Amino acid sequence: MVVVVVVMVEVFMHKTVIVEPNLKELENTTKLQDWIKKYNLTENELPPKEEWEITSEYARAMNIMGLVSFATFLGLALSTLGPRGKPLLDFFQSLSDCSMVITSWLIWISPIGILFLVASMMIEMKDFSVMLGQLGMYFLTVVIGIFLHGFVTLPLIYTALTRKLPFRFLANMGQAYITAFATASSSGTLPVTFQCLEEKNKIDMRVTRFVIPIGATINMDGTALYEAVAAIFIAQVRGLALSIGQVVAISITATAAAIGAAGIPQAGLVTMVMVLDVVGLPAEDMTLIIAVDWLLDRFRTMINVLGDSIGAGLVYELSKKELEQMSINANGDVDRPSNEICMDAVESSKM
Ligand code: ASP
Repeated sequence: MVVVVVVMVEVFMHKTVIVEPNLKELENTTKLQDWIKKYNLTENELPPKEEWEITSEYARAMNIMGLVSFATFLGLALSTLGPRGKPLLDFFQSLSDCSMVITSWLIWISPIGILFLVASMMIEMKDFSVMLGQLGMYFLTVVIGIFLHGFVTLPLIYTALTRKLPFRFLANMGQAYITAFATASSSGTLPVTFQCLEEKNKIDMRVTRFVIPIGATINMDGTALYEAVAAIFIAQVRGLALSIGQVVAISITATAAAIGAAGIPQAGLVTMVMVLDVVGLPAEDMTLIIAVDWLLDRFRTMINVLGDSIGAGLVYELSKKELEQMSINANGDVDRPSNEICMDAVESSKM
């Protein structure tokens, strides 16, 4: 029992962090003298991040990467246990079915919730004309960019690799887009994404349950695009002429920063500091785009969720044969696809 509690605390709350050096504490130490010589530092100037200490601490936030890794290893261990692992497997299956049922109830009341969420954000804005004026073009650039990526580039890749038209697939994900828009969180949208993929698009649960949690944590197409555009916009506002090399560097860092962002509201704004750093802009410049970020966050989260879903769709289409072979159990019988079992749970809850 103690072991389980320790593992859960580690998985949920232990995070790796880089710690800013305390210059006062380091005063008169050889370490600080070395840095001053090496980087030509002036007084109170910090050394580059490579020199900062990497440590780990307990945080009041969820360690999503830890959770995903733990779940992966737990699944791998369970698959080696055979019949002995069945009770735990049944437990998780039943927990998952229950969350599906709860989600299907929540979906019915989501339009009212979304209405109030967006309305409250609009009321909180001091000057709505700021958004339409000064930041309007920036806002439009990001929205057009992410929509082109989500509804042109990604579907084209889907069609090219699967030889299927993407329209039905995209239409079936409607509920997930709405939830992503409402919650501004890929992680918060997970249950609805599962439901749309498994029930409407008939993607095998073995694919969705593996691909989607990883995607919601590290695959953020919308965030990567937004971070690159935002950094270029800030540089332009500051009158900084960017070379091609700097634009490429911004794009690469934006992709890395998006991978580092958690699937929670406005996480991309935090990791933007890395991107601004590449072109030598201070972190405070983020305030230039903060006024519209709450709304852009909703659009980019929609595309993040769409990117993950298309990824799961592609993996499913490309590994259909292997999945079918795996469905034939040791007795030569064909096992029932897992999403059918899940759909039964939702259907029976409606009766
Ligand atoms: N809110 C986004 C998501 O959950 C992350 C971000 O771009 O801030 O996918």
